[in-house]
Amino acid sequence: MSLPSFKLMRPSTVAEAVEHLVKHAGKIQILAGGTDLIPSMKQRLFEPEFVLDIRGIEELQKIGVVPGLGMEIGALVTLSKLEDSEYVRQRYPVLHEAAKTVASPILRNMGTLGGNICLDTRCVWYNQSLTWRKSCGFCIKKDGDLCHVAPGGKRCWAAFSADTPAALLCLNAELEIAGPRGFRRTLLKDFYTGVGEARMKLEAAEMLVRIFLPESHAGWKGAYKKLRIRGSIDYPLAGVAVALKKPGSKVEDARVAITAVNPAPYLVPEAPHALIGRTVDEHSATVIAELAAHIARPLTTSALTPEYRREMVKVFAKRAVLEAGGN
Ligand SMILES: Cc1cc2nc3c(=O)[nH]c(=O)nc-3n(C[C@H](O)[C@H](O)[C@H](O)COP(=O)(O)OP(=O)(O)OC[C@H]3O[C@@H](n4cnc5c(N)ncnc54)[C@H](O)[C@@H]3O)c2cc1C
Repeated sequence: MSLPSFKLMRPSTVAEAVEHLVKHAGKIQILAGGTDLIPSMKQRLFEPEFVLDIRGIEELQKIGVVPGLGMEIGALVTLSKLEDSEYVRQRYPVLHEAAKTVASPILRNMGTLGGNICLDTRCVWYNQSLTWRKSCGFCIKKDGDLCHVAPGGKRCWAAFSADTPAALLCLNAELEIAGPRGFRRTLLKDFYTGVGEARMKLEAAEMLVRIFLPESHAGWKGAYKKLRIRGSIDYPLAGVAVALKKPGSKVEDARVAITAVNPAPYLVPEAPHALIGRTVDEHSATVIAELAAHIARPLTTSALTPEYRREMVKVFAKRAVLEAGGN
């Protein structure tokens, strides 16, 4: 499959990138590593008139520790760089675990953290060639007005299928976004809409520039578990991240998040209450497993049945809690 034709813009600063976004709003698409965007363009899921290749913006490739505040990660930092970072492995292990499960080593060399956070939602009725989609009458997410997953429904249920956002939610990550009015910050938990066809709260001329991990969550123990068909490469069909502040035998604070089973990644709201002040054991891990499965809404958007994916959320939540708890 060939790419559609487009004009390529290569800014070297964030200000220049935003200028292009403002000038061509609605007709321009940001390209970071391109590992998801390029195949999608070949399938004609995106046919932008302009492609904004941001890889020349050096400041977005930096990763560093701000003493007392935490870690600052440029949107262009690759997943391999996170995987290779000893600091991330020791201080933010849940992110390290999630990053190293994304795709394959070669894709992680190209794929960026920013691209992973902004990844398009996925559905078996959407991630197909133009001919395939046309033969089915298209769908709400692209070119059509019907949903094959929830017939009669008016919204898109495509699943958010990136791994690292579940880990980042557990770390209370914050995003810095650049746009025509300057820079703004938002918590990752407030970034997603929960709607498949318009997945994130980013205006047409805005871009993600940096990710902040707070010092308060450094040193939390972590685990990430993921369901996929081929262990070596596939997108998640269900994912569970767990981060525990547990300096001794009891949990002092906790976060659990799920991905790939809803149109957005979500924190499990009752998880901290169920774990704080307790020891990690079979019982507390089983409670978390039930809570995680309760907010999972897998539909027929992905390979494997919804029932199996929900069951695996349960299995993985339990395993991740026990692993993070050191059991
Ligand atoms: C075979 C295969 C397997 C894969 N498996 C996985 C997997 O297991 N887990 C997983 O999470 N992903 C997987 N991916 C998807 C992809 O490789 C990763 O999600 C990667 O991190 C995407 O980053 P990127 O820089 O390549 O993004 P791109 O493809 O460049 O961009 C992805 C989307 O984000 C937008 N975007 C990128 N950067 C910004 C920014 N700074 N501001 C605003 N918008 C931005 C783009 O416009 C585009 O819509 C897989 C891809 C392939 C081809």
